[in-house]
Amino acid sequence: MALACIADSVVTVTDEAQLDAFMANYDVKAEHNKPIFVLSGGSNVLLPAHLKATVLCPIMRGIHLTAQTDGYVDIEVMAGENWHDLVTYTVAQGWYGLENLALIPGLTGAAPVQNIGAYGVQLEDYLQFVRAYHLPTKTWHHLSVADCEFGYRDSLFKRAPNTWLISCVRFRLHTDVSKVLASYGDVQAVAQRYAEQQQRQQANPADVMQAIIDIRQQKLPDPKQLPNCGSFFQNPIIPQSQFAALQKSYPAIVGYPMPDAMIKVAAGWLIEQAGLKGDGIAPIVTHQQQALVLTNHTPHQATQDDVAAAQQYIADVVYEKFAIQLSREPVWVNPDGSIGYDEHVV
Ligand SMILES: Cc1cc2nc3c(=O)[nH]c(=O)nc-3n(C[C@H](O)[C@H](O)[C@H](O)COP(=O)(O)OP(=O)(O)OC[C@H]3O[C@@H](n4cnc5c(N)ncnc54)[C@H](O)[C@@H]3O)c2cc1C
Repeated sequence: MALACIADSVVTVTDEAQLDAFMANYDVKAEHNKPIFVLSGGSNVLLPAHLKATVLCPIMRGIHLTAQTDGYVDIEVMAGENWHDLVTYTVAQGWYGLENLALIPGLTGAAPVQNIGAYGVQLEDYLQFVRAYHLPTKTWHHLSVADCEFGYRDSLFKRAPNTWLISCVRFRLHTDVSKVLASYGDVQAVAQRYAEQQQRQQANPADVMQAIIDIRQQKLPDPKQLPNCGSFFQNPIIPQSQFAALQKSYPAIVGYPMPDAMIKVAAGWLIEQAGLKGDGIAPIVTHQQQALVLTNHTPHQATQDDVAAAQQYIADVVYEKFAIQLSREPVWVNPDGSIGYDEHVV
């Protein structure tokens, strides 16, 4: 979001031994030591103007092939590897599975934190284990998929912030060029066009990746050009009865059935229908093409307070119209490095 932020101290770790060495001298309880905040690419955080914490940045690099058969490969990827570069690298090698997660910003170490997902794939589908450092006990652990307690955009790491530092992620990818997941939205049609351009009958994983890159580039502003943190609001989940009542007044309302007679409503649709496309409180306004995305028009000057004001304004207008409370999706970081939860997040 390119908010103005000064941290008291920033420590980068380029390998696991360096983390051990730093933590050996760090007494979590000592008064002179500030709390630790773990930061990777910064694409999913809203930082305070003054961060009175020790910011720990895991930037270790490396992609290692650890096993290979006719059907699959295992790779271990260090936390500091750029996520999108990893996706394009694996597809170029003929190692498939991650292609639907192309163009998600950030580094690999952060990907398990919210179990990143897009176009029908979630990180956990291809993950084998995570190597992570437990900060309170200063010990290393291997966490299996079950240990990570993944949920929809959720994990053990997200629920216990600044407790774990993920240093390495192991994936099992497949090598079957005919296996693709392209049923989502326009992906099949765009991927098929790429296949036909190459005189192939069926789309392969590289075609699907290119299709997803194209679709995402059309739909979402590039954070490097216009700072944003992707979807700003979660899709609210409301009772079926409330949804049915709203449908009478708004037949076009967009909702997806969930368990327990609940409906997930498209937050972007609500914001757009409330007349808030391109609106907000300057310099933080919703994007013209994608109302779910808040953009920062004064990079490195706007602060967390500006974001809070725009969030409140948008949530209030939507609530007035639909009686639905919107909650924030990105991570709100308090001045002491702890995470501020949205009071409306259930
Ligand atoms: C334009 C845009 C589009 C996006 N699209 C999607 C999408 O389609 N799907 C999706 O799931 N997400 C999406 N996101 C969100 C974001 O890309 C992901 O959450 C990404 O994994 C964040 O990576 P990061 O390196 O920037 O993490 P950061 O923003 O630096 O950190 C995010 C959180 O993870 C913690 N963390 C970071 N690194 C580590 C580590 N090594 N160990 C332990 N904790 C750590 C941080 O403390 C923080 O709480 C999008 C964001 C943007 C800006």
